[in-house]
Amino acid sequence: MHNSNYICGEWVSGDTEIANVNPSDLSDVIGQFAQATSAQLEATLDQAQAAQKEWAAYGIERKYNVLMAIGTEMMARAEELGTLLSREEGKPIAEGKGEVYRAGQFFTYYAAETLRQMGETADSVRDGIEIDVRREPIGTVAIISPWNFPTATASWKIAPALCYGNAVVWKPANVTPASAVALVEIIARQDIPKGLVSLVMGSGGTIGQQLVESTKVNAISFTGSVPVGKSIAAAAIGNLTKVQMEMGSKNALAVMDDADLDLAVNLALGGAFGGSGQKCTASSRLVVHRAVHDAFVEKLVAGAKAMKVGHALEAGTQIGPVVSEQQLNENLAYVDLAASEGAELLCGGARLEMPHNGYYMSPGVFAGTTNDMRINREEMFAPLACVIAVDSYDEALHVVNDTHFGLTSGIVTTNLARATHFRRNAQTGCVMVNLPTAGTDYHVPFGGRGDSSYGPREQGRSAAEFYTVVKTAYIASGQPA
Ligand code: NDP
Repeated sequence: MHNSNYICGEWVSGDTEIANVNPSDLSDVIGQFAQATSAQLEATLDQAQAAQKEWAAYGIERKYNVLMAIGTEMMARAEELGTLLSREEGKPIAEGKGEVYRAGQFFTYYAAETLRQMGETADSVRDGIEIDVRREPIGTVAIISPWNFPTATASWKIAPALCYGNAVVWKPANVTPASAVALVEIIARQDIPKGLVSLVMGSGGTIGQQLVESTKVNAISFTGSVPVGKSIAAAAIGNLTKVQMEMGSKNALAVMDDADLDLAVNLALGGAFGGSGQKCTASSRLVVHRAVHDAFVEKLVAGAKAMKVGHALEAGTQIGPVVSEQQLNENLAYVDLAASEGAELLCGGARLEMPHNGYYMSPGVFAGTTNDMRINREEMFAPLACVIAVDSYDEALHVVNDTHFGLTSGIVTTNLARATHFRRNAQTGCVMVNLPTAGTDYHVPFGGRGDSSYGPREQGRSAAEFYTVVKTAYIASGQPA
């Protein structure tokens, strides 16, 4: 099946196509996906400027209806669209369905936000003058999204962009184009101006680069790797384009000597191996108090060995394949690196042969690791967890914070004072107490510190900061006649 780009409000083919292959079964080709041309991108950027003005002039209830319809349809079709997502990305079907449902919730949340846009009023310091402070749309927003949450990440950018009156030009990751087409098909059927939302599929280095360098773009929202994020920031600053970026991470889960060990093991297993470890919120460093280290590790290894690796669409699969051959090779290279750094591989970390030919690997647990090893400093994006033993809470907190990333962190403890101290002193954008490092809500801010994030927070009401510009109006009321 051939899939097109959505350019100037029309589905159009490109000069070339790429095949989208199921990582659970390489014999399953999901479809061919058009690669947008440079001219198509320019045309749709021009159209976006006109469409944005028209959209901004819609009443707030009309915008509400559009966003609510998109979200409602996504939630109603979560089973079907989640299956498609899992088929192309490789996450187990329950996670695929959950992602699409959650993506729908971003639209319904921002539907409601269209009605809740309030400004501020003030008296001037000068007599007879009033001040009105309100937010206005920023214009055309370029959205560059990754493959690991192909529908949710795009939705938590597209929904607020539209809510606050902007146009969107979206370049999804080329590894997961089917979910992008499915989402834009829903958006395209709504009561929106032609060209308000565009889909430009293609590689990051070509069409992505052209998009972020364009002076027709007023803001760029990106999620992906740190090196690409830095190159986008450089392009953005050249044009003084507003930019927001969510990038890598190296999240730590601290397990204290007073922790409920079964809870700690469950949090670690879900946090480290959910989505095959391909989450920006994954618990890749497990910082464990030495008093419970051996018991924790024994249960963790037993749990990891018991997890069922398999085809994403098969019932009972807990860990699907990793997304691509390149990702698998990088993961296996990290397993070799771990051995050379002196880490002890207790289980997994190997390629698996399965009935279907896919990119399968077993979840790996490393013990005897130290925080200065590369496996504890670089984002692996793999089903690999590294245990770091510590002698005290203070040392645990130090290790958790000893990273150039800062997205999420967690502590497992029954001690309220420690939990409170950790919550106040962990240098991360999100902190979890007796919860996995992965798993966040849609109505509150999401983002990190250090190399994990740059620019205003995403999600919840914080999104207004990025997707709008503030206008301050002074009104001289004069004297009554
Ligand atoms: P990338 O940063 O390479 O890609 C993310 C998005 O940016 C994709 O849509 C990509 O396009 C696009 N892109 C790439 N280069 C450019 C460019 N020069 N200009 C504009 N857009 C560009 O991440 P990957 O998907 O390749 O993953 C690599 C690593 O990044 C992972 O192993 C992980 O460590 C990290 N990552 C982190 C994520 C997070 O949520 N924190 C999410 C995804 C990745 P395309 O891929 O189509 O070429």
